[in-house]
Amino acid sequence: MDAALGYARRGIAVMPLHTPVNGGCSCSAEHCDNPGKHPRLRHGVHEASRDPVQVRRWWKRWPQANIGLRTGEVMDVCDVDGPLGLKALRDLLGDLPTGPVVRTGAGWHLWFQPSGFGNRVGMLAQVDWRGAGGSIIAPPSLHPTGRRYHWARYSRGYLPPCPAPLLELLRPPPPREPREIIDPGPYAERAVERAVRSILDAPVPKVVAGQYQPGGRNDALNRAAYSLGKLAAQGYLDERRIWTDLTTAARQAGLSDTEIRRTIASGLRAGLGV
Ligand SMILES: [Zn+2]
Repeated sequence: MDAALGYARRGIAVMPLHTPVNGGCSCSAEHCDNPGKHPRLRHGVHEASRDPVQVRRWWKRWPQANIGLRTGEVMDVCDVDGPLGLKALRDLLGDLPTGPVVRTGAGWHLWFQPSGFGNRVGMLAQVDWRGAGGSIIAPPSLHPTGRRYHWARYSRGYLPPCPAPLLELLRPPPPREPREIIDPGPYAERAVERAVRSILDAPVPKVVAGQYQPGGRNDALNRAAYSLGKLAAQGYLDERRIWTDLTTAARQAGLSDTEIRRTIASGLRAGLGV
């Protein structure tokens, strides 16, 4: 609770996440695919708060909750998954900036000033970006490996600006084929909202009377990718936007990045008819 309040005091919106328990997850799903890394709140990062009263209430209820922080406002975070990612970053940037660094389970979180861009998965090998609309897990949260997220370097509030080569990678690329994007209009916007909502509202896996029920998040994601893919095929939506919005929603719903990538790719392919 102290740590969560500390982040909130610095203007960072905080949310309680599930916690790894005995090789599983506090969400009580028998086969949680993202132990200790998904929100305890139904609408995830949208409900994150800087209000100390709210933060206290959450951590009173779940004292062991891992801490999720909303990115894109006070800071963006470069999420490096392992040594390959670190090498890719060094190859791109030369020396790494001297901002705050968190040691995660197998990698590092490099904190930066907000880039103004949203999330980007796989911007380099083993490197993701958490920006506007995204979230990260913060110290002293518990990793499923039993290690705690901790500060490898703490820089007293100084955040380096996002280096130009990274900004270049974050800038949304033009669509793969030069397709004319028709004014999306309220119809396409509503379709995106509906798709996102269906993913957030899909039932999570659980065990009822000793029976494992797989939940419906993957199905919902697949259907969403398919229906938005059809709109993209007609020029109503940009593929990049679909990837961003659906990835964000699916992460909040607690799906793993591998599963998300695979499901969106196949749903989108089917919707686009390619
Ligand atoms: Zn879980």
